[in-house]
Amino acid sequence: MNDSQLLRYSRHILLDEIGIEGQQKLLAAHALVIGAGGLGSPAAMYLASAGVGRITLVDNDTVDLTNLQRQIAHTTERVGQSKAESARITLQQINPEITVTALNERVGDARLAALVADAGVVLDCTDNFATRHAVNRACVAARKPLVSGAVIRFDGQISVFDLRSGEQPCYSCLFPQDQKFEDVACSTMGVFAPLVGVVGAMQAAEALKLLMDVGGSLAGRLLMLDGLRMEWTSIAVGRNGACPVCAAQTK
Ligand SMILES: [Zn+2]
Repeated sequence: MNDSQLLRYSRHILLDEIGIEGQQKLLAAHALVIGAGGLGSPAAMYLASAGVGRITLVDNDTVDLTNLQRQIAHTTERVGQSKAESARITLQQINPEITVTALNERVGDARLAALVADAGVVLDCTDNFATRHAVNRACVAARKPLVSGAVIRFDGQISVFDLRSGEQPCYSCLFPQDQKFEDVACSTMGVFAPLVGVVGAMQAAEALKLLMDVGGSLAGRLLMLDGLRMEWTSIAVGRNGACPVCAAQTK
């Protein structure tokens, strides 16, 4: 690290759990952020400010006026532009020393597999079950840790699916692919603005800890936030031995 980096990351380096060694792990790391909206904005901004050396942002949407109430990586003047590119500009303004790649595309299974294989951690910041399951399948196949967040109305949830060992549940163990869920997109439902900040920032915290191998993670637990009462609930989640996504993978 040069003098400028020692100053920029000094409040991390001062932490015994991180130090220069942990910060260097972040600088050498690659995080894949799927979705540059309400969750992806704060998550990616903290990954960038914290010095994750390579960040890849994936989003095929464009910035809309209705996004700006909560998607804090975007600005009024960038309405109409690619969300991935708009977020890339914000991240590089925060930290010009890292490499940020903006992919303005809807990624299919093959593309996801390649992107996930190249990442040290994957953040699911999307708002639909089809993409969530596609991201999970890619992470199971490549054995990459997945940090998953979701927010709707005044409710949030976050968990980590640490698929490196083959012992932890995957997203589909918890939310089976064939189960019919009400796929309520934020594009049509109300979302209390700060909750995506709360959950997105926690996704960044979990991702950074995973990249540095610091502390424990949310693997095996689902945290649920009732934002109206501001109460957290933690429930244990286990593997589904019959999960069609991960059960065959580890046998
Ligand atoms: Zn599973």
